[in-house]
Amino acid sequence: MAFTGAGISVESGIPPFRGEGGLWQKYDPESLDIHFFLRNPEASWRVIREIFYEAFDKAQPNAAHVALAELESRGVLKALITQNIDNLHQRAGSRVVVEFHGSARTLRCVDCAESCEASQTDLSKLPPTCRLCGAILKPDFVFFGEPISHHAYARAFLEAERADVMLVIGTTGEVMPAGLVPRIAKSKGATLIEINPAESNYTREITDIFIEAKAAEALPRLLEALPAS
Ligand code: NAD
Ligand code: ZN
Repeated sequence: MAFTGAGISVESGIPPFRGEGGLWQKYDPESLDIHFFLRNPEASWRVIREIFYEAFDKAQPNAAHVALAELESRGVLKALITQNIDNLHQRAGSRVVVEFHGSARTLRCVDCAESCEASQTDLSKLPPTCRLCGAILKPDFVFFGEPISHHAYARAFLEAERADVMLVIGTTGEVMPAGLVPRIAKSKGATLIEINPAESNYTREITDIFIEAKAAEALPRLLEALPAS
């Protein structure tokens, strides 16, 4: 299985949150706090629109996303757990994708739970509102202070327990509880192969093989090295 974080989308032009060039150097993480959002939906939405709708819309899947989709279609990769909300794995052709933190693709009403496609919603006037009840629409990804969906959580931990090899790609391992996924796999006997140009919380603790490289360079080479099926 594979477990991915913001790093896999860096070469698609989407910056990560943490570290050099990270989004938190430019924006205040408070915008993505559920309590702040509910009190200040317009201010919060202005940041959300700029990061997740204007920037994401321009991004295309890169060679790393494509290589993972190819690994799945060859029957090597059985499941992909992502912390990302950018939809790039699905756009590259991956089918078995568990979105641990939800997705920016849909918006949901905070009152009646009606959902709609973000691409079909007018974001020129903020905050966008529900067509049924008029309450505020919120992106369908997990904000700080919100719980993980029960389904995503259960599925991610089940896959982690079953994995014999886990590729851990582009994640610091700092965001919890997502960061536990590789640790569960390791505790159940999986071999961990990590791809990251920098060391993460896992590298010296639980990683078995560390490929110190960018995802879009390392994954296509990994694919080439596999015997053709
Ligand atoms: P992070 O922002 O904490 O860390 C990013 C990691 O990616 C770092 O370890 C960094 O060394 C690595 N990295 C940088 N460039 C890379 C490259 N070219 N190839 C491979 N790795 C590279 O990311 P996180 O740990 O995933 O946590 C932030 C949370 O916010 C996560 O839930 C994440 O999914 C989410 N987020 C999502 C997006 C997105 O959907 N694209 C963008 C920003 C943040
Ligand atoms: Zn509603």
